[in-house]
Amino acid sequence: MNILNLYGSTEAMPIGVECINQSGLFHLIPDSLFTYVRTADNRVAAPGERGDVIVSRIGWHVGHVFVPSYSSSIINYANGDSAMFLDEKCTCGYEGPSLGAIERSEPALNRADQSGCQVWE
Ligand SMILES: [Zn+2]
Repeated sequence: MNILNLYGSTEAMPIGVECINQSGLFHLIPDSLFTYVRTADNRVAAPGERGDVIVSRIGWHVGHVFVPSYSSSIINYANGDSAMFLDEKCTCGYEGPSLGAIERSEPALNRADQSGCQVWE
């Protein structure tokens, strides 16, 4: 049995799936959301550049069927992470864009008094 490590957020759900060959490298899930990396000077990051992770989701694909999000959609949402944008064929065979070296941009407050809930500043 293979266990996949997903990268995502509460708001955007799964954004990427960790590569089976390279720990910490997440291949983007392109069918259901748009993800890009925005540089500090507000450009779309070129391959190899670091910046803020920006996601948009208006629904989900279930197989080949698109199911719109009827409750909430997110457009150009900065999820508080920074990452390096990569766009090259991976050793696993994946040929789409990926995120690497993902880090939190904002510090977290550990609220041990609330069942381990973390609050992002
Ligand atoms: Zn890979």
